Amino acid sequence: MYYAEELVEEVRSRNDIVDVISGYVRIQKKGSSYFGLCPFHNEKSPSFSVSGVRQMYYCFGCGAGGNVFTFIMEYENYSFPEAMKMLADKAGVSLPEIEYGEEAKKKEGKRSKLLAINKEAARYYYYQLRNERGSLGYQYLRGRGLSEESLKGFGLGYANVGGGQLVHYLRERGFDDQSIREAGLASFNEKQGMYDKFWNRVMFPIQDINHRVIGFGGRVMGEGEPKYLNSPETMIFDKSRNLYGLNFARTARKNNVILCEGYLDVIALHQAGFTQAVASLGTAFTAGQANLLRRYTEEVILAYDRTPPPPSLHSVIRHQSDVTVVTGSRMKTNPSNMVMFLETYRY
Ligand SMILES: [Zn+2]
Repeated sequence: MYYAEELVEEVRSRNDIVDVISGYVRIQKKGSSYFGLCPFHNEKSPSFSVSGVRQMYYCFGCGAGGNVFTFIMEYENYSFPEAMKMLADKAGVSLPEIEYGEEAKKKEGKRSKLLAINKEAARYYYYQLRNERGSLGYQYLRGRGLSEESLKGFGLGYANVGGGQLVHYLRERGFDDQSIREAGLASFNEKQGMYDKFWNRVMFPIQDINHRVIGFGGRVMGEGEPKYLNSPETMIFDKSRNLYGLNFARTARKNNVILCEGYLDVIALHQAGFTQAVASLGTAFTAGQANLLRRYTEEVILAYDRTPPPPSLHSVIRHQSDVTVVTGSRMKTNPSNMVMFLETYRY
């Protein structure tokens, strides 16, 4: 137990479960309960119920159930202390310094260490881009029409050619090898030992909605393979529950979210004033991401410039989130055509 039971109870009772869940899932009153599409499994008719009387939720489809804390932990992928903190803040309850249990302390310590490593790595890459060795990357990004302001805003960087420079840099800052590997920034083999996972790439830090760097995407300079390389999933990086650019898009105050294909598209669109643009993280669009979008919008515009969006994308979004989907697949070739399409579409 990390908090006194009375305090947990106070936070629970001051967060009505119907209020909290309706911030995430569209639910409708039916009899004495509320029903909506389950955020924890893929379904077309609502079997997810929330009871205001019992302050519990339950899904008749997949069996997910619990109270307001379990919902936040499941949905946000939070630990109990994180859920407690969020709900306490929401209700204006102030919390005492936490007395962590040993296990939780370890886990929290590990999470914050991985976040610190990513932050430091982002700083390193950012500096390299502005260095002489990073000029290739810098010219590439400017050549794609990105302004200096956009490069800064999105914290873009560069991973140098070859070796273990980042590993070395992180070790110098006191991070241990195991954590550097767990952050997904280094690989290992018998011959070389630890070496940088990313090299000769422009680097896109991927941030969660609280602007914390949780992973990276890297685009190779020249002809190397793969063209795009992303951080592996880690304790802090769940690709199916995050979207590139969402940390900015969520406060864009637009009527829609524009879902595009890649990191560069997102940045080009933000630069053109479409600050509601996001992209998935080098993987197929997931039900979890559709759910995430539903929290912020009722309309998604698919803006895929190079290839038409796969038909499955449309249905994942529709079925998961019940938002309107507009396809802008007639835009071809480059972000400026995309911007033109979007301007004629609505603005
Ligand atoms: Zn379910």
